[in-house]
Amino acid sequence: MINLRPHHGMCIGQFVGSGYSDEFTANMQRIIERLEACDTQNIKLVCHVDDICGSCPHNHEGICRSGQKVMNYDAACLTICGIRENEEISWRDFKDKVRASILETGKLKEVCGGCQWIDTCLQNMGINY
Ligand code: SF4
Repeated sequence: MINLRPHHGMCIGQFVGSGYSDEFTANMQRIIERLEACDTQNIKLVCHVDDICGSCPHNHEGICRSGQKVMNYDAACLTICGIRENEEISWRDFKDKVRASILETGKLKEVCGGCQWIDTCLQNMGINY
């Protein structure tokens, strides 16, 4: 089963091949392909390093160096989508919740406005910022 940080549900939707390192983007691409290949299969929503973090240069011995900031993104995503930490849900259902509750309601900045990638994500969504 794939472990996914809740806020990565938004990162994945806006992913255009950019990332923290070549290894990171290659791993993220692989995870996305696995998710999409079987989107009815359950994933586990975890609020700690996940399968995407595995190849991230900010992942220091299983702890994200971005600390509380990314934990706040996870918490906001879970709250807005009405999901609990460690809940298991299909990638398709989670993706639908993120789209309906966050992306289509214009709440992306509310969840992860402090992220270094926010301008890229908004640009990809065609949103003026
Ligand atoms: S910055 Fe932190 S949360 Fe984001 S991918 Fe890297 S380790 Fe994971």
